[in-house]
Amino acid sequence: MNRLSNVAKRFTVIVVFALSLFTTVPVLAEQIEADIALVGGQIIDGTGSPMRTGDVAITNGKIIVVDRDDTIDATWTIDCSGLIVCPGFIDLHNHSDGEVEKRETRAAVNYVTQGCTTMVTGNCGSGPVDVGAYYRKIDEQGAGTNIAHLIPQGNLRKKVLDSERIEPTDAQLDEMRKLADQGMRDGAWGMSTGLIYVPSSFATTEEITEIAKVVSKHGGIYASHIRGEGTQLLESIDEALRIGRDADLPVHISHFKSSGRESWGLVRQAARIIAEQREAGRTITADQYPYIASSTSLGATVLPSWAREGDRNDLRKRLDEEGDRMRALIADRIAKADDGKAIRIATYRPNAAWVGKDLAAIAESEDRPIVDVAVEILRAGGASVVKFAISEEDVRHIMAIDWVATASDGGAKLPGGTKPHPRNYGTFPRKLAYYSLQENVIPIEQAVRSMTGLPAEILSMQDRGLIRDGMVADITVFDPLTLRDTATFDEPHQYADGIQYVFVNGQPALVEGEFTGTLAGKALRFKGANMHANSK
Ligand SMILES: [Zn+2]
Repeated sequence: MNRLSNVAKRFTVIVVFALSLFTTVPVLAEQIEADIALVGGQIIDGTGSPMRTGDVAITNGKIIVVDRDDTIDATWTIDCSGLIVCPGFIDLHNHSDGEVEKRETRAAVNYVTQGCTTMVTGNCGSGPVDVGAYYRKIDEQGAGTNIAHLIPQGNLRKKVLDSERIEPTDAQLDEMRKLADQGMRDGAWGMSTGLIYVPSSFATTEEITEIAKVVSKHGGIYASHIRGEGTQLLESIDEALRIGRDADLPVHISHFKSSGRESWGLVRQAARIIAEQREAGRTITADQYPYIASSTSLGATVLPSWAREGDRNDLRKRLDEEGDRMRALIADRIAKADDGKAIRIATYRPNAAWVGKDLAAIAESEDRPIVDVAVEILRAGGASVVKFAISEEDVRHIMAIDWVATASDGGAKLPGGTKPHPRNYGTFPRKLAYYSLQENVIPIEQAVRSMTGLPAEILSMQDRGLIRDGMVADITVFDPLTLRDTATFDEPHQYADGIQYVFVNGQPALVEGEFTGTLAGKALRFKGANMHANSK
């Protein structure tokens, strides 16, 4: 049955129901022909509505929500009793830009096994600037999940100004505007900044606003890794809100948190400010990963961005020429990170023995000052680190807010000798199984909405994120009794348990917990927002 006749059927049911108020005409059951039938599951539709028992059919890659009295004649019927059937998860904040272009990682198995069907790339100001070329490559080669992209302001700036800490001329600003305009025409969903990274951070508020105005014209969003997530959190939130107001577009705060013990609790204050602005009619949202540790480069962790201007050689030169000043900066950041105990090496090619260890432990075993260890790593090209810097209470408080989506901030990975953040493998199951079902921080329907209906709404993605007639069949089916994130900080390369089926564009990507090898993911192109930024 196609969608139109399904709509017609619904209309008939309404008429029959209306008539039945006056007569005793029975509602006629119907047989629905489908490719796949998911029967007897608990449907959580992604809107936040209570779960209900029901059947869902997939035909021609689209969803049909089946009425109670109807039967389904399907090529493949899956008994979903005891399982939860919900929309596929949309990871609003993902860094798989490079990985989806590579043969080994484009399947993103560590995301499909979490129930993800769409990943949003181009975050934190980094990723491909040529959106059209990037999308074409994904469409040609396929991917494990769908990909939606944001214009990365950092790389866009780099194209025009390199990694220098300078102000653009009018002509250069215009060039950046043109690149942003082209990106939006090619189907980007908005733009992102990464204001602790080089060179994104070298842009002033005004420069960012100018680019955001272009994005606004096309209906896109402004997503930001703000300038400071520590003690400068409130000023940084204020900057993001100002850009949203001046450029008239929705603002989205990426990986919303207070980072560092001295700033714990500030994020709740920031949330109150945002809530007031939302009350006043502004469109402001955020996302969060459900962990008490963050992850980025060692450089971004121990040095301010101005000290990282230029490339690796520039950094080495600065470490040589301004050694004392640089060491003092590093020592200060390390002191604030529990004297180095909170900073753990995730990947570091030159010395595999240090991977998985914290800076304090490495310094002790090497019998060297901790700053020396950090400087050696920076000189050798840097490392990625995991930093334990977030309070559990803050995580739970922010999680309970209905405008905060779930997002991983991770990327497609292959199991190996590195110790990346477990969020790469466990974000979505952890929020559902641990925080919702076990700890009762939020109801399961709200947890599902935070990774389906809400991110779709944030992006103005109109055909995904809900179990609803006619929506694209991105569907995840999980077992609430066995669902579990198994990835830990010590053993991060562990696929999650309990996700039973994943359908991407109606194609089975995960069947009985096993990845099928299907690369059914497509590039998703933004077609414009349905609502004006400030009237939502
Ligand atoms: Zn970030």
